[in-house]
Amino acid sequence: MKLKEFEGKQLLASFEVSTSKGLVANSEQEAQEKTSQLECEQVAVKAQVLAGGRGKAGGIKLVNKSEAPETAKQMLGKEIKGERIEQILIEEKLEIEKEYYLSLTVNRAEKNVTLLFSEEGGVEIEELAKNSPEKIVRIAIGKEFDASNVERTLSTNKHAKQITEIARKMFKLMKAKDAELVEINPLAESKGELIAADAKIIIDDNALYRQQEFAPLKQRELSEPEKKAKQSDLNYVELDGDIAIIGNGAGLVMATLDIVQHFGGNPANFLDVGGGASFEQVQKAVEIVLDKKPKGIWINVFGGITRCDEVARGLANYKKEKRITVPIVVRLIGTNEAEGKKILEENGISTQDSMEECAKKIVELTR
Ligand code: GDP
Ligand code: MN
Repeated sequence: MKLKEFEGKQLLASFEVSTSKGLVANSEQEAQEKTSQLECEQVAVKAQVLAGGRGKAGGIKLVNKSEAPETAKQMLGKEIKGERIEQILIEEKLEIEKEYYLSLTVNRAEKNVTLLFSEEGGVEIEELAKNSPEKIVRIAIGKEFDASNVERTLSTNKHAKQITEIARKMFKLMKAKDAELVEINPLAESKGELIAADAKIIIDDNALYRQQEFAPLKQRELSEPEKKAKQSDLNYVELDGDIAIIGNGAGLVMATLDIVQHFGGNPANFLDVGGGASFEQVQKAVEIVLDKKPKGIWINVFGGITRCDEVARGLANYKKEKRITVPIVVRLIGTNEAEGKKILEENGISTQDSMEECAKKIVELTR
């Protein structure tokens, strides 16, 4: 789970890393109030989105303090890489003499934490990594942070000691908060000091059970259908095609995705209603997968604990209450199959028993 810049900076500050001074606002008025609390002439107005590369996308503006509320107003509500800007960070502008890059990443392949440092940080870091990888120093960090080794490796830099100290604090943060990435880019040299002018931190989702403070932030990464599915205890995953898939049990759902792809289709999403789904859950499932406006929907249920009549009732109810305008293909096999099929037939929905026939049909209907 990604943290926004201001959240990352708060965390860094709590581990005693110097960060730029700033305040968060979510309206023009709040921007006005917050700006007046800053003691400086010029400010950096920064869109708080999870996407990187905001500078290049117009999400970072350096302006006079008096212009900050207007600049914030213009940013709020706009989008950066499809993400709506809801918060603005207004900071005292730093005089930056040099921009360094410093990060710690969990390196799964090497089973360690890797420190990356470059003298040439800033918005072109990706290009640098591609075109001049030799300008990025890599240091493997073991279980403990070996400061003398890090300092020695960075010794060509006049700030080696200070950078090592910052890295040590980042490592401490990483361990304490289960971060998989702690990145400062740029680590700005300003009046002889090193200050985190940006922060990107990713918390390991698998650690959220013991990092409860971040659990509420997890919600915002979810799309509307993902939130609804979570509330209804349904397993929903978004994909980028146009055929919605509902099934029961992970194995069957995976096989359904594979066979759709095999016949040239592209799943929009899939939803696993699990075992023993009630007709209310099935209704909800149909509603959720249709949120993404797919071109068609395939419901593939193998009744065991799940009863086909219950599934049929859910689908029929949904159809009665809301119009379904896209083609539906249904395969319903197993417990109470005959009754399920009868319910569907009465509601004008036909079924097919063969996986292949279903896959071919839904691909054809959505082409
Ligand atoms: P990103 O593009 O999303 O990585 O956003 P950053 O926060 O890293 O800002 C991009 C660039 O804007 C930085 O590399 C700096 O060159 C510049 N910048 C950001 N904040 C300041 C600041 O306070 N003072 C100055 N002079 N430049 C800044
Ligand atoms: Mn940055």
